[in-house]
Amino acid sequence: MRLTFLGTGTSAGVPMIGCRCGVCTSDDPRDQRTRPSVMLSFGDDSAPDGERRLLVDTGQELRLQCVREGVERIDAVLYTHAHADHVYGLDDLRRFSGRMDDPLPLYAEAGTQEALRELFPYVFGEGRNPNGGFVPKLALQTVAAGESFRPLPTVPLSVTPLRLMHGRLPVLGFRFDSPEGSIAYCTDCSEVPEAARARLGGLDVLVLDALKPTKHPTHLSLAEAVAIAADLRAGRTFLTHLAHDLAHAELQERTPAGVEPAYDGLKVGPAPA
Ligand SMILES: [Zn+2]
Ligand SMILES: [Zn+2]
Ligand SMILES: [Zn+2]
Repeated sequence: MRLTFLGTGTSAGVPMIGCRCGVCTSDDPRDQRTRPSVMLSFGDDSAPDGERRLLVDTGQELRLQCVREGVERIDAVLYTHAHADHVYGLDDLRRFSGRMDDPLPLYAEAGTQEALRELFPYVFGEGRNPNGGFVPKLALQTVAAGESFRPLPTVPLSVTPLRLMHGRLPVLGFRFDSPEGSIAYCTDCSEVPEAARARLGGLDVLVLDALKPTKHPTHLSLAEAVAIAADLRAGRTFLTHLAHDLAHAELQERTPAGVEPAYDGLKVGPAPA
């Protein structure tokens, strides 16, 4: 099991349009943060290329992220919530669904599915694709917080959706348990409720939202994320959904041992560093 950070930026991405700050103009490639998404990969000899892959969210840069990482196949997609920076790359899934016999499964809560149907009527609507053209073939599957499921039939992976609060919006985090270890991805949250914390013990890798150094109504601040990391004590904790306030090198200086800023293209597994 390996997690690849496809994107680690906040909703506007970094560099932001029209910003000339030190981070947005940085030469450090780790300061280029595309919209937030991760991919989980699993070895599987029965797959055409020996791997199965799960995507969490489909942001605006999905195409660029998949080209960069050489991703030719995706087996399932999980959605945390339906904000623009997590769903507006959905159309690019047609490159994957077009190569499959069956529709590509999308796992989402009922509320997220409702939003996806409204945002993409040409994909999900009644008069599907009225103007012709090539649309992704997708199959929405309902998931619920606390109810584990197995999205990849040939991979011994259990996924547990966890209820997180993103301001007042309930969203999902995901815990991934395989025989190799455990990884959890908790982006877009201002609060990790007690019920979720109870399911986030014994992790090898934890990924947490850490938007910026100052407090924010819908995202964890750097200090709040570091405090939750100390509470949950995963082997390694990585910070994502990063705005342009701090450069990667500055974030590294401000995080304690065991907590690290993520960057686009970073790959981590359950094995110790
Ligand atoms: Zn977001
Ligand atoms: Zn900036
Ligand atoms: Zn959001």
